[in-house]
Amino acid sequence: MTLTSSLNREAACGQHWDALVIGAGPAGAVAARQLAQQKLRTLLVERKTFPRYKVCGCCLNQRAINALQQIGLGQLLESAGAVPINQFRMQYQGRKTAVALPGGLAISREVFDTRLVESAIDAGAEFLQDTTAIVVGSSEKRSSRTVELNYQGHFAGSVSAKIVLAADGLGHPSLQNCSGFDMQVASDSRIGVGAAFAVKNHTSYPPGMIHMAIHRSGYVGLVRVEGENLNLAAAIDRAFIKQCAGPAAAVLQILRESGSPVLPEMTESSFKGTLPVTRKTLRPVGDRLFVLGDAAGYLEPFTGEGMANAITEGMAVAQLVPEGIRHWDSALEQKWLNAHYALTDGRLFWCRWLARLLRSPTAVGWGLRLFHLFPGMARPIVARLNH
Ligand SMILES: Cc1cc2nc3c(=O)[nH]c(=O)nc-3n(C[C@H](O)[C@H](O)[C@H](O)COP(=O)(O)OP(=O)(O)OC[C@H]3O[C@@H](n4cnc5c(N)ncnc54)[C@H](O)[C@@H]3O)c2cc1C
Repeated sequence: MTLTSSLNREAACGQHWDALVIGAGPAGAVAARQLAQQKLRTLLVERKTFPRYKVCGCCLNQRAINALQQIGLGQLLESAGAVPINQFRMQYQGRKTAVALPGGLAISREVFDTRLVESAIDAGAEFLQDTTAIVVGSSEKRSSRTVELNYQGHFAGSVSAKIVLAADGLGHPSLQNCSGFDMQVASDSRIGVGAAFAVKNHTSYPPGMIHMAIHRSGYVGLVRVEGENLNLAAAIDRAFIKQCAGPAAAVLQILRESGSPVLPEMTESSFKGTLPVTRKTLRPVGDRLFVLGDAAGYLEPFTGEGMANAITEGMAVAQLVPEGIRHWDSALEQKWLNAHYALTDGRLFWCRWLARLLRSPTAVGWGLRLFHLFPGMARPIVARLNH
């Protein structure tokens, strides 16, 4: 499964685009698809070569699945071999408890993101990978924005578009030269760590179950994705990673102390890290520029909200772009801020509440005991997070 660019950098620079989307994660790919479906000339630029690995728990909650179904992409998950999840198992200091999950699917980001980009190309979007996009600070012409394209660290040309969408993930690197997109990073933010392993005949982490190893300094989630692969994703305190002398040792220690099985593959694997994850962009909109998905803000991996937010924001922003092409003003900027906060803010309360609880060993200990004795107590929490 490889993906090739649908045009080269020279051809991309020679055209004037209605919309230029930076970043081919779920936010960017969905936005590009929805824009191309409206017959807008859309360029999707990605700095990596697809399929690419991305640190992620790889679990789509029901909200994400519903959103994909709404735009006619429900079949994509089934045909890609996404694994249905029906159980959530937590393990802390040797104590285990499991609750039923009302729905959800596990799929590797290599496969999921590639399929989404293919759907954008099928809809008529042009795709250019291996290319880093940097938005030029101020627009020379009020009717468009300029974006620089770089290849292997060198300038490769400029491209202009009536509207730019920054969907480039945590830290929005494409906006490094633009002012007004300051980020607030939580001082106690954890770092994401991930790895993937090919596993065969391992019974410790069976398909259909999310296993969460909980520790006072973080948690490690494991889930089987398509094709006999096991995905690992963790959120860990920065101080603990330092104390353990690296992310791999920190992950293994969390697994061991929680009583979760450590597979031989895990000790041999290389782990990847992220920036501190809990952050938000104070104003995710600027002149002819929308910021969406993780680039606009992200809270905590545990709640599995990230991809649902990215997909629904990709859908929502695509409805505003035609208006922005006709006429950009502060009323439109406010519309995006309203849409962004409506999609994220109501849910933040729950995510924050759960994230805080998880940082308290006493609360986790009591929570697990209660859920073990009265599994029904966990249902409303799980249902709230899943929808
Ligand atoms: C440990 C961990 C576990 C998680 N688990 C889950 C989970 O189970 N379920 C869930 O829903 N969410 C989960 N998330 C969150 C989820 O991964 C993100 O919310 C989601 O990927 C956001 O999508 P996005 O499209 O906004 O950004 P991304 O998926 O990060 O995509 C951004 C893309 O932009 C590209 N890019 C960056 N800079 C440039 C540039 N200058 N030019 C061109 N391209 C660029 C990147 O290469 C990348 O492909 C987890 C996150 C972490 C850290």
